[in-house]
Amino acid sequence: MEDGNDELLTQGGFERVTDYDLVIDQCLKELMDVGHLDSVESLDAIGFKTVLGKDLTGCVEADEKVIEALEGFEAVAPAHNPVYANGIRKFREKIPSVTSVALFETAFYQWKPEVAQRYAIPKKWHDAGVQRWGFHGASHKFIAERSAELLGRDDVAENARQLYVKGPSKIEGKPLRVISCHLGGSSSVTAIRNGVAIGCSMGFSPQSGLPQNNRVGDLDSMAIPYIAKTLDISLVEAERQLTKESGLLGVSGISNDVRDLEEAMEEGNTDAKFAFDLLVHDIRHWIGAYAFELGGVDALVFTAGIGENGQMLRAQVCEGLEEFGLVLDKGVNDKTRGKEVKISAEDSKVAIYVIPANEELVIAKEVYRFMKNRG
Ligand code: AMP
Repeated sequence: MEDGNDELLTQGGFERVTDYDLVIDQCLKELMDVGHLDSVESLDAIGFKTVLGKDLTGCVEADEKVIEALEGFEAVAPAHNPVYANGIRKFREKIPSVTSVALFETAFYQWKPEVAQRYAIPKKWHDAGVQRWGFHGASHKFIAERSAELLGRDDVAENARQLYVKGPSKIEGKPLRVISCHLGGSSSVTAIRNGVAIGCSMGFSPQSGLPQNNRVGDLDSMAIPYIAKTLDISLVEAERQLTKESGLLGVSGISNDVRDLEEAMEEGNTDAKFAFDLLVHDIRHWIGAYAFELGGVDALVFTAGIGENGQMLRAQVCEGLEEFGLVLDKGVNDKTRGKEVKISAEDSKVAIYVIPANEELVIAKEVYRFMKNRG
C-alpha cells in the first residue's frame, strides 16, 4: 500500500476457529504460497479490528495495553473481546518482529457530542465505563468516506479520511448529513455529519440498539431483575438468553438469518414476518431520530449482509417517506444485491445508496498511516 494507491491483493477467511496457532500458520503459509510474502518477517504490520477497550480507543499499537483493555471489558463484549485478545497474543508470540496495530470500533465515535455519550446514571457508573460508545466504527467510517465521494463532497471525504490523524476539520458551507445503516449479523445505525459520527444506535455494548441476529438489542434495564425473579433464573442465565436466544432468532423462533425469515414468510409463517417487521420498525425508528438530530438528510446508506442483499427490507424501510424527500426507485432496488448502486428515484431529494461494506480497507489504511506516522 502506498499513498493514494491501495490495491486488494488477496482475501480469505477462516470460520469456526478452535485452534488459533493452526489458523495463523495456515494464513501466513497461504500468503507465502501465492507469492504475496517472501517470508513472515517481511510483513510490515498486522491490523486488528478490535471492538471495545476499557479506557482505550483509537488506532494504537496492539501491545499488552490493548490486551489488558480488551480483557477489562471482556464481560461487556464476550463474543468479541476474548477472541481478539487471544488472536493478538498469538500473533505477537509467533512473529514478535512484526508490529500489530489495533483500530477500535469505538474510535469513530470519539468526537460525538457529550450528550450522545452519557447515560442518565450516577457519575461513578459513567466513570467506570458505562457510556454510549458506539460500534461498527470501521464500517461506518468507510460509508462516511465513500458517500461523500459519491456526492461530490471531496472536502468531507478528506475530513473523514484524515479523522484519526488530524481529528475533525472545519467544513465550510452546507453540512453533509448521512445516515448509515450497517445491517448484518450484527446491526447498527450511525448518524454522520461532515464525515464525523454524531451518534450510534449501539451504546455501551454491541448488544444494544437494533434487534441483532440472536442478541436482544435495546431493552429496559428493569426487565432483567424482574425476569430473574419472575422466571426464577440467575443473572447469568438471563444474560445467556439475551445474548444467544433473543434478537431475530428469539422473536421468530426459526432462525437468526434474514434469508430464512424471508423464505418462511413466503410460506406464511407469521412469527418470521413479525421478526422481520420488528427489525424494519426499529431501523426506521433510528433513521427518524437521526434525521432530526442531523437537521435533515442528504444520503441514506444500506451496507453489510442484510443492507446489501435485502431488497424487501430496504423497500419497507423506505416506504411512505416521500414527504421527507426519500423516494426509492423500486425497479433498481429490486435488482440490487451486493454492489454499489444508487437506489433512489430521480426525484428523490435524499440520495439512497447500497454500498458494500469494506472494513478491511479502513483497517489497512489506518495501519498504513499509523506505521508511516511513527516513522
Ligand atoms: P454480515 O454480518 O454483514 O456478513 O451479514 C450476514 C447476514 O446478512 C445474514 O445473517 C443474513 O441475515 C443477511 N443476508 C445475507 N445474504 C442475504 C440475502 N441474500 N438476503 C437477505 N439477507 C441476507
